[in-house]
Amino acid sequence: MSEQSAVIPAMPNVHSHAFQLDLRGIGERPIPEAHAHDDFWSWRIAMFALADALDPDSMYDVASRLYSQMRDNGYGVVGEFHYVHHQSDGTPYDEPNEMAFALARAAQDVGLPIVLIPAAYHRNGWDGEDRPPADGQRRFCDPDVESFLARVEALRLWSADQQNVEVAVAAHSVRAVPSSWLSAIAAYSDEHGLVRHVHAHEQRRELEETQAEHGCSPIELLAETGFLGKKTSIIHGTHVTDHDIDLLAASNTIVAACPTTEANLGDGYLPAMRYLDAGVRLAVGSDSQVRVDPFEEAREMETVARRTSELRVGPHAATGDLWSYLVENGHASLGLTGSPVSELKIELDLDDPQIAGVEASDLSAALSTCASASVVKTPISA
Ligand SMILES: [Zn+2]
Repeated sequence: MSEQSAVIPAMPNVHSHAFQLDLRGIGERPIPEAHAHDDFWSWRIAMFALADALDPDSMYDVASRLYSQMRDNGYGVVGEFHYVHHQSDGTPYDEPNEMAFALARAAQDVGLPIVLIPAAYHRNGWDGEDRPPADGQRRFCDPDVESFLARVEALRLWSADQQNVEVAVAAHSVRAVPSSWLSAIAAYSDEHGLVRHVHAHEQRRELEETQAEHGCSPIELLAETGFLGKKTSIIHGTHVTDHDIDLLAASNTIVAACPTTEANLGDGYLPAMRYLDAGVRLAVGSDSQVRVDPFEEAREMETVARRTSELRVGPHAATGDLWSYLVENGHASLGLTGSPVSELKIELDLDDPQIAGVEASDLSAALSTCASASVVKTPISA
């Protein structure tokens, strides 16, 4: 019997924290003082401990293991939302972009294009005043936005000579930076034509803290500070009001969902159909790496929408082809629309038991409902 295959676009992974790969298992251990209330915030304690132990060599090592898995499983490019910038005590490395270089080298050696997205971080939230960084957070932090942007600018200039390395910019979240930083980062990205990302509306506590500090939601604050826009991606967007969605739609902002991570962390879920009905573009990322499988991200988005609507009409039906839709918006989220990277393809094994016998006209539906990464026969060659 002849081998059958089909060629489809590789999926852009718009949101990754490489080092979190090594939280698998560890991140599930109960934390005694938090048990029964284990949630995102107790998971974060384990994540900080892991981040605190990293150095450029171990960052390269974990990123290499992760990126080869991403490439083999059908991703075509990774957006690395990078915030472990400095040494453990917060002192910059002699080369301030040492950690970013380690990530770029890992991606290049594996053959996976990368968009480095350095993220600004300044504080451990707000409780009437800026809360200073906790022990594990010091290495994420910069004293002022000018120091942060100077490092991003050096990275941007360095990347001009690099193969398959692009640079974008991020604010970690509205809880991690003062609002003046959001305006400054938006202005910098506009000046250089870079896309910009920010975590927002992942956790209800984040909404309460932003309400207390600013009297509005994170998305409303991002609108006020000029951060939203067609080159902007909000990461998560799980808990949103209709007004938040209107602001995203009016500004043509993308929402990058990380469905398997949001499920693992107990964040809630993406209200995909509300976004699609409003015309908000959606993309996906692997985020905490609890799963490194773009088929599973698409399937989680599809099936959660069906569970909540109690209908079998989900994002795949709404978009006509969920896989292709997520590919297109993923490239827009990473600033790669029309680039050679946006043309990268993967080959599927149509003899794989998960999709064997599926008719060609049903294949796109099968990719978002019953496939996993094992259907990838030939990953990208970049
Ligand atoms: Zn994230």
